[in-house]
Amino acid sequence: DKADIGVTGLATMGRNLARNFAHHGHVVAVHNRTQNRTTAFMDQHRDEGAFLAAGSVEEFVASLRRPRKAIIMVKAGAPTDAVIEELAAHMEPGDMIIDGGNALYADTRRREAALRERGLHFVGAGISGGEEGALNGPSIMPGGAPEAYETLGPLLEDVAAKVDGTPCCVHVGPDGAGHFVKMVHNGIEYSDMQLIVESYDLLRQALGLSPQELADVFREWNRGDLESYLIEITTEVLGHTDAATGRPFVDVVVDQAEQKGTGRWTVQSALDLGVPVTGIAEAVFARALSGHPDQRTAARSLAGPQEKGAADGADLVEDVRRALYASKIVAYAQGFDQIAAASAEYGWSIDPGAMATIWRGGCIIRARFLDRIREAYEARPTLPTLLVDPTFAAALADAQVSWRRVVATAATIGVPTPGFSSALAYYDALRRDRLPAALLQGLRDYFGAHTYRRVDREGAFHTDWSGDRVERPA
Ligand code: NDP
Repeated sequence: DKADIGVTGLATMGRNLARNFAHHGHVVAVHNRTQNRTTAFMDQHRDEGAFLAAGSVEEFVASLRRPRKAIIMVKAGAPTDAVIEELAAHMEPGDMIIDGGNALYADTRRREAALRERGLHFVGAGISGGEEGALNGPSIMPGGAPEAYETLGPLLEDVAAKVDGTPCCVHVGPDGAGHFVKMVHNGIEYSDMQLIVESYDLLRQALGLSPQELADVFREWNRGDLESYLIEITTEVLGHTDAATGRPFVDVVVDQAEQKGTGRWTVQSALDLGVPVTGIAEAVFARALSGHPDQRTAARSLAGPQEKGAADGADLVEDVRRALYASKIVAYAQGFDQIAAASAEYGWSIDPGAMATIWRGGCIIRARFLDRIREAYEARPTLPTLLVDPTFAAALADAQVSWRRVVATAATIGVPTPGFSSALAYYDALRRDRLPAALLQGLRDYFGAHTYRRVDREGAFHTDWSGDRVERPA
């Protein structure tokens, strides 16, 4: 009697994932470096399904049916490497190690290549949905070899979230593709959240609405185009009252945002790929700015605008709703561009529509909106940017006047909206006939002889700026 699958690392995520597999009728081997955790797990959950508790890595591997499938749910980085090494030492060709942690895709590529040399499969699987998702159905983004997915896929699809009967799990692509897509998912999550908090901040500052009143605004928004998990939980958090003080919860929390690194990784990768993910970058930087209390204290004396509030409440609420939707379309368009760029760079052949499909449920950015992205890519798989999909183009056209008013209002009353502003700047830059990049090229040629191309002739040219100012082919 062997286990169908094993989970090593029984902290929040691993524990719930193991239970999820058991709830679906699979025999699950469980293991944790510190054995107390395994014992505690068995004490609490043994009645929920068929578990085989292992005291050592050797025992854990031996308890798995071949080809063995062992999921690692430990801290990303060096701990993951250590656990891979221990598992691999006891495994045989054809066995699989699945890393469900938040690994950097470059690490996953390295690990996959190293294990492939040893005849083992390594599947980097992004898992989103937090604690609750792991237990009741996460969104799963597995990479690795297609052969590995043949036997592993059905198990993962079984425990993944389902939307309209479709599992939120698909083979993303080879080696690090799954972790890459999970990373961009988190990056999009950053920008989604940034846009939400800007909406809250602007409406509160401009109109003096209370957190409770704003909870009602978001509740209303959740009935329309913006319907999503993040808007839903915004209602919950804004409506929550601190038990100790009786004040709105949001007013007793220190206003310095933390980050674990996936947003930063997304931006770092985007810089390397040359993809403008301005929404994600602004979100990462907004968190960073919040975490500099000394500078913020010093800067409080700087001059601000005379105007502090906006005139028309009802109109501004609707304008902000539209600005949020438009900026969100931009943020997702940028994220999907990054996936497309990496897919081309690494030869992953990622299907963007399939990514939208598996993000519809189980994960943090799950939203009604993702169905529209899926439809957009189904209608036109080679869409140059999501913005030009007819549905999204119409939504942007519909929103743009409001969007401009929101950015103008925010600037006038001095409320920072880097997400809204940068998304609008991106939209306006992309739709421009001519960009000032032409002048930039001129400057580059002037000081560094970097050359430029002409609109009317092929080839590269240089003007002798310091001499006769005659243009010559470079
Ligand atoms: P943690 O990231 O807190 O990791 C704790 C687990 O790692 C424990 O089981 C611990 O074992 C084990 N561990 C740490 N170092 C080692 C080591 N050197 N060798 C063996 N085991 C080690 O757990 P989480 O459940 O929060 O997350 C697991 C993974 O899932 C992480 O990569 C995380 O980024 C990712 N993730 C987390 C989400 C979340 O919402 N928490 C959501 C999605 C992904 P011991 O008990 O012996 O200390």
